[in-house]
Amino acid sequence: MSNKRFSELEQLEILIEQLGNRADVQVLERISYRGQEFPVYCIILGSKQPDVPVLGLFGGVHGLEKIGSEVIFAYLQTITQLLDWDDEFNARLQKSRLVFVPIVNPVGVYRGTRSNGNDVDLMRNAPIEGQGNTKLYSGQRISPLLPWYRGDTSAMEAEAQALCQIVRQQLFNAPISIALDLHSGFGLRDRLWFPYASCKKPFAAITETFALKKLFDRCYPYHIYKIEPMSLEYVINGDLWDYLYDEFRQQNVNERLFIPLTLEMGSWLWLRKNPLHLFHRHGLFHPVLPHRQRRVMRRHFILLDFLHRSLLYPKPWAHLDLAQRDVYHQAALRLWYD
Ligand SMILES: [Zn+2]
Repeated sequence: MSNKRFSELEQLEILIEQLGNRADVQVLERISYRGQEFPVYCIILGSKQPDVPVLGLFGGVHGLEKIGSEVIFAYLQTITQLLDWDDEFNARLQKSRLVFVPIVNPVGVYRGTRSNGNDVDLMRNAPIEGQGNTKLYSGQRISPLLPWYRGDTSAMEAEAQALCQIVRQQLFNAPISIALDLHSGFGLRDRLWFPYASCKKPFAAITETFALKKLFDRCYPYHIYKIEPMSLEYVINGDLWDYLYDEFRQQNVNERLFIPLTLEMGSWLWLRKNPLHLFHRHGLFHPVLPHRQRRVMRRHFILLDFLHRSLLYPKPWAHLDLAQRDVYHQAALRLWYD
């Protein structure tokens, strides 16, 4: 990184240093770009046992949406402090595992582009076709000069493969796991999306997802999220989480639970409050004013903490009896699928 600083990577490396031997740190991949190497770091905290619940947090898949990485940094900062004194939190980690890949697409974050160094949109790069009304932004194969370029989906980009590999390794084998992929850009509200992104059919964990939403609604009645299948807003090609979910289902019918969620932080609100954002490089995808940025960084901690605890105590949402399952299943179909 000779001629230009990469402050997000510097920040991440400081956090890694502070965690020291309390974390297991891996370099999943080194991405070459114009003579430089960019590491894709993974930080693992907690139990190394295969049979514990796992929460995975992923950010920076789209390089422009760097607020996702920053929310994860802020959470890691908090955790680093909790590890020193909070026995309850430490006990929680002995029974569970947290997996972080805060910068999935380091070249994109470094350049300030949505795509990676090959101009491929990683969240359009999986070999999976959207069904129905797809648009240019759903992912295109026309040209890498246009946004949403899908690249070669039969040989996925190194960053996409690294993400898939760590999810298989760390989450697929867990009895219960949730992945949360942090993005920003679409809409006025913060959305929590679950599969599918490629079609409008219900995904297999719809009942548990509905029950989890109910539990969240009950515990935090004033939470800010609109929880829905991504395809309710738009349908895309090549979604990595759809791809991973289908692969997981083929291997683990009914014995394990894996729910991939996408947090889409609605950034049009930042735009509405300050139209000058339009002229800022990151403006559409990033809250430029420091106080707004700080607010975004702390506003999601309740969700992250809730997801962690709900994985440790799955009884009220993932271990339902048959009658309750049926009620929730019907309610989920009514709410999200007509
Ligand atoms: Zn995104």
